[in-house]
Amino acid sequence: MKDCLFCRIIAGELPAKKVYEDEHTFAFEDIRPQAPTHVLIVPKKHIRGLKEAGPEDAEVIGRCHLVAAEIARQRAIENGYRTVLNIGPGAGQSVFHLHLHLLGGRRLAWPPG
Ligand code: AMP
Ligand code: ZN
Repeated sequence: MKDCLFCRIIAGELPAKKVYEDEHTFAFEDIRPQAPTHVLIVPKKHIRGLKEAGPEDAEVIGRCHLVAAEIARQRAIENGYRTVLNIGPGAGQSVFHLHLHLLGGRRLAWPPG
C-alpha cells in the first residue's frame, strides 16, 4: 500500500528504528514512546486493523504476539509488560495498518485509560 505509513516503513521507504524482522513480521520502536519499552510489531501484509482481519490472518496475528514475547524476554521486562491492539478511532487507533504495541519497563496501571 503506497499511502500506508507502516507499509512504507516495512519497505524501507521511511526511516524507523528496526527491532526485529522475519518473513512475516516487522518490529520497530514507537516514535512517541509511552514506556521505556514501546515497540510496534506489525504483519508485513497490509491488514487495516483487527476488525478487518480474516481467518487467513490468524497465523500472522499470533506471530506478532510471539515476537512481542521474544522482545520482552530479550529486554528482561518479563516481570510485567503489556501487548495492546487499539481498534478503531474511539480506542485511539491512528494508523490503519494492524500493529501490536509492546509496552513495558515501568509499572502499568489497570484498567488502562
Ligand atoms: P495507534 O494509536 O494504536 O494507531 O498507534 C499508532 C502508533 O504509531 C502511535 O503510538 C505512534 O506514536 C506511532 N507512530 C506514528 N508514526 C510513527 C513512525 N513514523 N514511526 C514509529 N512510530 C510511529
Ligand atoms: Zn500498510
